[in-house]
Amino acid sequence: MNVADSAAIGEHLRSRGGVATDLAQQADLVIVNTCSVRGQAEHKALSYLGRLALIKVKQPAMKVVFAGCMAERVKESIKKRFPFINLVVGARDIEYFPQLLDKFLGDMLDDRSVLSAATPQLTSFINIMRGCENHCSYCIVPTVRGPEKSRAVDDILADIRRMAAAGTKEVTLLGQNVNSYTSAGRGKTIIDFSDLLQMVNGIDGIDRIRFMTNHPKDFNDKLIETMSSCAKVCDHIHLPLQSGSDTILAAMNRKYTAGDYLTLANKLKHAIPRLAITTDIMVGFPGETDADFAATLRIIEHTDFDFLYAFKYSPRPGTPAAAGEDSVIRSKKEERLAILLEQADSIAARKNAKLIGTHQEVLVEEVTANGIAGGRTRANKKIFFAGESNLRGTLVSITVTGSKAYSLEGSFTSCV
Ligand code: SF4
Repeated sequence: MNVADSAAIGEHLRSRGGVATDLAQQADLVIVNTCSVRGQAEHKALSYLGRLALIKVKQPAMKVVFAGCMAERVKESIKKRFPFINLVVGARDIEYFPQLLDKFLGDMLDDRSVLSAATPQLTSFINIMRGCENHCSYCIVPTVRGPEKSRAVDDILADIRRMAAAGTKEVTLLGQNVNSYTSAGRGKTIIDFSDLLQMVNGIDGIDRIRFMTNHPKDFNDKLIETMSSCAKVCDHIHLPLQSGSDTILAAMNRKYTAGDYLTLANKLKHAIPRLAITTDIMVGFPGETDADFAATLRIIEHTDFDFLYAFKYSPRPGTPAAAGEDSVIRSKKEERLAILLEQADSIAARKNAKLIGTHQEVLVEEVTANGIAGGRTRANKKIFFAGESNLRGTLVSITVTGSKAYSLEGSFTSCV
């Protein structure tokens, strides 16, 4: 979501004559768009502000905007620690970011003569909702982003049509909990996430639709049916599990059991046999015993994941879980994480190896000067093959000839 927000604000600045640079040393304005989900993300933002402080000494005119979830969480204290920050925009105000920025910048950008054209993006992200009210006990998002707020259907569809006209072929619908999307449509009918997917499926120029992230408790049969019947919806779902232990899931306030998750995963696989399922797993949540962790390993064995993202529990100040003891010792968390990371590698390698000899639909995203084309399959796997530059932006059929844990190799068969 931060990538999408940053891209939108970048676009806004470009439309006002701004020019992007990767070097803070060259910038008149630096926007630090932050994440608060894990402590590590906040440490990174703080250390970046430390580096900006040194640049600011040499370039006192440079303006610094601190934005996003961490900005929401520490908005009272951050300017005391880094007084050079000119503007703080918390996550709850992010939808008004362009207006806040315009007010702050005044005529700073209007003076510029350069108007850079936006680069057409083959793949684009779009936020369809903000906030979350699930209150998982370890998560700071409901506090920093506030309650769920779905965007109006017509606004989303208009944005996607604009993206398609600018060259986007694949769109990813984003939200903290996309599958609980709900909005009033025309004639006061209620549009849910499945209805929205069907509408996006009908937009000319868009070839592929992805979405994330989903909460297992909100995944209903209508959505499974919609995924299997909408040709443009890709064969990939990210479905965070977090733990295979019912005790830990209850302590996390996840509102499903390991059995519920397994039933859902089986239903999805039955309806869409080519579907790739990826997941998030957290280790070391307070109270997690060896038996709880063994339950997580068991469900991994039974779910046929394509990949899993593993994380160590990190207490986030202000969450219910952080009010208790961080009871799993560090070495135990690291031991469990190492086991999961090894599992992730071997699962990915095994699943990719099974694809050798199959034909995969690929959206070609890049072609290097030496003729190596790269893109992703419908199941979101990276694949490389020999191809010409005119293939960029097209859907092609590729025969898989080789595999590694994190990518495939193939040969061009035909255009789709
Ligand atoms: S569903 Fe849970 S983990 Fe995800 S954003 Fe909401 S509270 Fe956080």
